[in-house]
Amino acid sequence: MTVKDKVCIVTGAASGIGSEIANTYAREGARVVIADLNLDAARAAAEQIQANGGRAMAVAMDVTSEEQVNAAVAEVVKAWGGVDVLVSNAGVQIVHPLEEFPFADWKKMLAIHLDGAFLTTRACLPHMQKSGRGGSIIYMGSVHSKEASVLKSAYVTAKHGLIGLCKTVAKEGGPHGIRANVICPGFVRTPLVEKQIPEQAKALGISEAEVVKNVMLKETVDGEFTTVQDVAAVALLFAGFDSNALTGQSLVVSHGWFMQ
Ligand code: NAD
Repeated sequence: MTVKDKVCIVTGAASGIGSEIANTYAREGARVVIADLNLDAARAAAEQIQANGGRAMAVAMDVTSEEQVNAAVAEVVKAWGGVDVLVSNAGVQIVHPLEEFPFADWKKMLAIHLDGAFLTTRACLPHMQKSGRGGSIIYMGSVHSKEASVLKSAYVTAKHGLIGLCKTVAKEGGPHGIRANVICPGFVRTPLVEKQIPEQAKALGISEAEVVKNVMLKETVDGEFTTVQDVAAVALLFAGFDSNALTGQSLVVSHGWFMQ
């Protein structure tokens, strides 16, 4: 039950939740791949891990590009011989009322969250099958994989979709020891959420403090944000857990906002 020496690709790892997962895996002895749209930030993140004594490499990857995903995974396999863990984490948020939602924004959201999850999974699976060691695929869902919120139709649709993909990957991967699970965090104070606070305040006609208190954290048991460390701890559990006993699951980490 360890990630030691495992090759772990984390998409969107130059910032926020992905960055914390990459650092956590590196501290546990994994070989970590920082895969991000923003190559400069990915390089800086990898160098930081190396400076702390960890093993990391950066790759340029727009998860919506079939060519870039395949090329980046091939680069990792060439450098480190395989892939053991994929964390499909890259994501953005775009909010609009449904009747005003630009079709281009809808397609962008589904491309990043769903095409990205599909393309990275498809690129990594053959290597996990070939190694004979199996692997772990982790999707970054959300409480919005289980619940809906106003203004977030594309995000909610995409995050629900990841659960369907995960269950299918769990079934197809089972015979090869490849597990698939979804992490469903509540609100985490990353750049993705910082951007939403003023946007939601404007769209809902309330103050930013009210967005935090009465929209984002209203349903939690204690009015607290989930932290990147909370999410990384679950990502470590899913990555290290090495039997098919734990597959096809979605685990909500949200201060009780959503209870199963
Ligand atoms: P973030 O904005 O801090 O980081 C997102 C990273 O993804 C950035 O480094 C960005 O460059 C990268 N990225 C964006 N588009 C990309 C693309 N096309 N290809 C590759 N990389 C791309 O965001 P975060 O809050 O850390 O979010 C990470 C994931 O967690 C997302 O899937 C998000 O939906 C999910 N999530 C976040 C929260 C939250 O409250 N922050 C809650 C639940 C789920």
